[in-house]
Amino acid sequence: MAARVNGTPPRQAGLLDPAALTGPVWVVAPHPDDEALGCGALIAALTDAGQEVWALLLSDGGFSHPASAAYPRERLVRTRLAEWRAGLAVLGVPAERTAALGFPDGALAGHAQEIQEAARAAFRAAPPATVLLPWGRDPHPDHRAAWATLHAALPGPCRVLLYTVWLQERGQEGDWPAPGEARTLTFPPSGWADRKAAAIAAHATQLGTITDDPGGFTLAPDMIARAVREPETYFEVNP
Ligand SMILES: [Zn+2]
Repeated sequence: MAARVNGTPPRQAGLLDPAALTGPVWVVAPHPDDEALGCGALIAALTDAGQEVWALLLSDGGFSHPASAAYPRERLVRTRLAEWRAGLAVLGVPAERTAALGFPDGALAGHAQEIQEAARAAFRAAPPATVLLPWGRDPHPDHRAAWATLHAALPGPCRVLLYTVWLQERGQEGDWPAPGEARTLTFPPSGWADRKAAAIAAHATQLGTITDDPGGFTLAPDMIARAVREPETYFEVNP
C-alpha cells in the first residue's frame, strides 16, 4: 500500500448523504472556527434541508493571541464567541441552538470530567441523534481531548461522525485511520462552498485582524482554500 500523502483522502471513501442523518444533529467544536472549517458545508446542507442542528463549543478560544495588548484575553474570548455565533448563523444555526462551555483554550485535556458534565447538561436541550465530533487523531491536542472526553459520554444511541480539521494539513501517516479502523465518508462543499467560506470569514480574529502579536495564530489562506474547495472528510467507527 502506498504511503498516504497529506491532503489525500483514503481511496475507499464513500459519499455522505445528509438526508441519511437523523436530527437533532450536534456539532462539537473544540475552538471557535473548527465547525466551519471541518463541517461548514455539511451544516449548511443540513439546515437548508430543515434539519435541526445545534453547536457545542468546548473552549473559550482565548489563547490564539496571548501577547496582544489590543486583545487581552477577556476581549478576545468575547470577540471569538461573537464570531462563532455569526459564523454559525451563516450556516443556518441560530444562537439559541448554541452552547459555549468556556473551558481554557489549549488545556481541554485537563478538564475532562467537567467537560463531560457540562456537555451532558447541554445535550439535554435536544438529545442528539447524530454528533459531529473531531477525529481522535486530528493533530491538535484540544481536538484529541475533545474526542477522548466526549466519544464515550454521548447520551443514548447516536450516530457519531468524526470530522477533520488539521489532519490534511499536518497529519502523520499514523494519524489517519488504519485499514479497517473506520469507514470514510466525504462531503463535497459544491453548492455550499460560498456559505462555508462566509462562515470561515466570520472568524476575523483568526484571519489577521489582530496585528500586535507577531506570534499569534492566523489561518493560512491555502488552508482555507483547501477547506472550501475539497470534500469534507468524516470517519465513522463501528457504523
Ligand atoms: Zn481547533
